[in-house]
Amino acid sequence: MTEPNKEQKQPQCTCIKDPFAVLPPEMRPRPQKKSNLRQVTCLGCGLVFWTNRETNYCMDCEKKLGQGS
Ligand SMILES: [Zn+2]
Repeated sequence: MTEPNKEQKQPQCTCIKDPFAVLPPEMRPRPQKKSNLRQVTCLGCGLVFWTNRETNYCMDCEKKLGQGS
């Protein structure tokens, strides 16, 4: 004897969605980004540059480092 035990689930209304979900990332409003740029002297080549990344290497040297085995 099997009872029909299916819960009637109300389908969630899809109109309650992130209204910005359809927008490309650059169009979405974003919280004010903290600019944490800092001046870095590349440990690889000595180039002085500004970055907001936590690296002490310029892009070039970082690429070289990334490629090395
Ligand atoms: Zn460098």
